[in-house]
Amino acid sequence: MKITDVRAVPLSSPIPERHQFRSDLGTRVKNDATLIYVDTDAGLTGLGTALGTPSVVVALVEDSLGPALVGEDPTYVERLWSKLYNGSRAEPALERGYSQPRYDRRGVTLEAISGIDIALWDLLGKHLDQPVYKLLGAARESVRAYGSGGWAAGEEAGPELAGYVEEHGFDAVKMRVVGEDDLAIENTVRRVESAREHLGDDVDVMVDAHGSLDVPTAVRIARRLEPYDVAWFEEPVTPDDHAALAEVRAATEIPIATGESEFTRFDYRSLLAENAADVLQPDVARAGGFTEIRRVAAMASAHGVRTIPHAWGSGLLFAASIHLALALPNCHILEVPQAPYMPMLWELFEEEYDVRDGRVYAPSGPGLGFTLREDVEERFAYVEGPEYEY
Ligand SMILES: [Mg+2]
Repeated sequence: MKITDVRAVPLSSPIPERHQFRSDLGTRVKNDATLIYVDTDAGLTGLGTALGTPSVVVALVEDSLGPALVGEDPTYVERLWSKLYNGSRAEPALERGYSQPRYDRRGVTLEAISGIDIALWDLLGKHLDQPVYKLLGAARESVRAYGSGGWAAGEEAGPELAGYVEEHGFDAVKMRVVGEDDLAIENTVRRVESAREHLGDDVDVMVDAHGSLDVPTAVRIARRLEPYDVAWFEEPVTPDDHAALAEVRAATEIPIATGESEFTRFDYRSLLAENAADVLQPDVARAGGFTEIRRVAAMASAHGVRTIPHAWGSGLLFAASIHLALALPNCHILEVPQAPYMPMLWELFEEEYDVRDGRVYAPSGPGLGFTLREDVEERFAYVEGPEYEY
């Protein structure tokens, strides 16, 4: 089997005004995704997705990364990952056994590589007639899930989160701090207090600050939140300062989670070396695909750190994250987005996800196990412009 073409298609889903929500990131006005197709001469096509500005992903895939794969055997997934990451020095890197990466190795380049890697695993699964999580060495048939959302202001925070629990049977939820009215620490505390009041003591509550705080503020918030038994504090400070994150971690008993904005095993190694996190959250469509995140998870387990995929995006990103969560032994829970309007997550495939009683169950088909609906490219035609308005 040989690769004949690698294609990328940008998608957008504008969010109607009544469903838009606001956080420290601004008001989200649309969701973007880029689909990646790896075609073969065997009639099989692998399907992946990349984060990153869609028009840039398309240019990278079609001008640089894709052409390097044409004529290759797609079942040599490690070889192809190495080829994409190391660029012109792919052969010496593999011969000598160490990385000699291309200069533009991070950012959108790695996101595009991640998308191709997802498609290669989907293709391998279709070729071998096995689901991806089994190719990776399955750890479980289903995984506990948490409802991820929580933007409502003040006393509305608790009922919003309780709604996720009621609808899907989750026993864990995540809320945003800084949410709609969070600029003062008192507002954050009031919102988490409201969450605990409405959820009782048997539901795990996680909080996510999107890297928006400085160290003193993050520490003050963490200490104020300790009485509410917070299961993790996600991205309290900028992802670019692992030492600052380690300072926050050392100052609170709340576990620290981070990693959705990191790239490659080398970023995660730095987080582990700094003792900066209790939970790593690589995104399969950003950090390096299945191939790289396996390495991250193995490294993390040696540090007693869990690896829990960040799973916020299109249906393809969610589907790939399900397989990761089923395959990684040190993953104990999976994010299930609860934004009010996400058709590119819930209405992308012919098949439905099996989410029930607070768990996500394994898809049954080969590869990722999902088939794109016929009208996807037309229905989610790409719209230029940013996803957030501040
Ligand atoms: Mg997050």
